[in-house]
Amino acid sequence: MSETRQLFKMKDLRGRLSERKYKMTPQRKEILQVFIDSEEGSHLSAEEVYDLLKEKEFDFGLATVYRNVELLNELGILNKVDFGDGRARYELSAANPQIHQHHHLICLKCKKIIEFEEDLLDDLENFISKKSGFKILNHEVKFFGYCSDCRNEVET
Ligand SMILES: [Zn+2]
Ligand SMILES: [Zn+2]
Ligand SMILES: [Zn+2]
Repeated sequence: MSETRQLFKMKDLRGRLSERKYKMTPQRKEILQVFIDSEEGSHLSAEEVYDLLKEKEFDFGLATVYRNVELLNELGILNKVDFGDGRARYELSAANPQIHQHHHLICLKCKKIIEFEEDLLDDLENFISKKSGFKILNHEVKFFGYCSDCRNEVET
């Protein structure tokens, strides 16, 4: 699954930044590196990125981290996700814009976020396009419920 996803890499960052006349700074590089190094399926808040940078002896200040994750989101390098807990989180985007955003399954009990890679929305996307003339570029789908560990507990 991960090979089809082709997430953003460091070399893509330089290109994206210069396209938009932004400079590669040590801050931007190290912030992206945190995401590259993080486990697949991690969704990090700006605070978590800040803490991970501190562990690596980088103290850029929380405001700088906030600003730069937002910028990386605007540039399409990070994808901002909101799981409804009042805290924005970020994950690496797919480098290929043809690949739509994976779906998120949110467990209401243990708060675990599970990624679901298969799009499965082609029929719906075609239907919407035909009906409304809307060109769909991407989507954000969240499913709320109970994960396989929690469902037994809530069902009994
Ligand atoms: Zn899709
Ligand atoms: Zn759960
Ligand atoms: Zn995700």
